[in-house]
Amino acid sequence: MLRVEGVSMIFSGFAALSDVDLSVEKGEIRALIGANGAGKSTLLNVISGLLPGHAGKVLFEERDESRRNPSDLVLGGMSRSFQITSVFEEFSAFENVQIAVLAFRRQTVNLLTPAVRLGRGETQELLDAVGIAHLADQPAGELAAGDRKRLEFAIALAARPKMLLLDEPTAGMAPQERKVIVDLLSMLNRDEGVTILFTEHDLEMVGQLAHRISVLHQGRILAEGLPGEISQNAEVQAAYVGGHRNAAM
Ligand code: ADP
Ligand code: MG
Repeated sequence: MLRVEGVSMIFSGFAALSDVDLSVEKGEIRALIGANGAGKSTLLNVISGLLPGHAGKVLFEERDESRRNPSDLVLGGMSRSFQITSVFEEFSAFENVQIAVLAFRRQTVNLLTPAVRLGRGETQELLDAVGIAHLADQPAGELAAGDRKRLEFAIALAARPKMLLLDEPTAGMAPQERKVIVDLLSMLNRDEGVTILFTEHDLEMVGQLAHRISVLHQGRILAEGLPGEISQNAEVQAAYVGGHRNAAM
């Protein structure tokens, strides 16, 4: 589904990413972990086309995406949910999703049908899928943090992505809200076949969700494997000695 080959990213002489290779299979959930500053967000930014990498290639379903912009990638099937998403605060949850549904529709719309009547069925399905159908009429700005996160997922899903890139999807959430997101992502992967690449600080969440884990350390891939293998990996453990292993990952 995704193949990153030899990607490097230099910020004013500092190598945030050095020769990174990463392959994610179709249907896989992959976690990208590493200490603060390891280069996780930078790698997602290069993959999603927000940052042009200084070297290397990003292939999505074997197409070279290195020179394309993020909106092309969304139409091509990759959708990125940001740590800060743009939600229209005063619009209802329903309207926010409906706008996204209409934005990604490629068929011609009938100009005689008022926009408010378009895409309602699909909007309803998305709200159901993320579990906030009962909050459809609430202004987005008044939703609790966990419900807002679900709304952001519904918006991302309106693009019918084959793959989701998620940068710390549960950052700042309480444990019960984290569980909601873990369940939602598992469901999307299982029922909708969405491939997922996510970064995360919370190792418990990583263990619950990821099929495989890649470890970034100072801009390089240090290890890759099953959750059990990674937790036993001596090199990974050595990279995190110094007391901040759990806090920083
Ligand atoms: P992570 O997400 O793993 O915490 P980042 O990808 O945000 O790490 O950052 C990796 C390194 O690149 C850090 O040292 C950070 O300071 C640096 N960096 C990230 N973005 C920029 C930027 N736009 N300009 C300069 N340095 C940056
Ligand atoms: Mg980051």
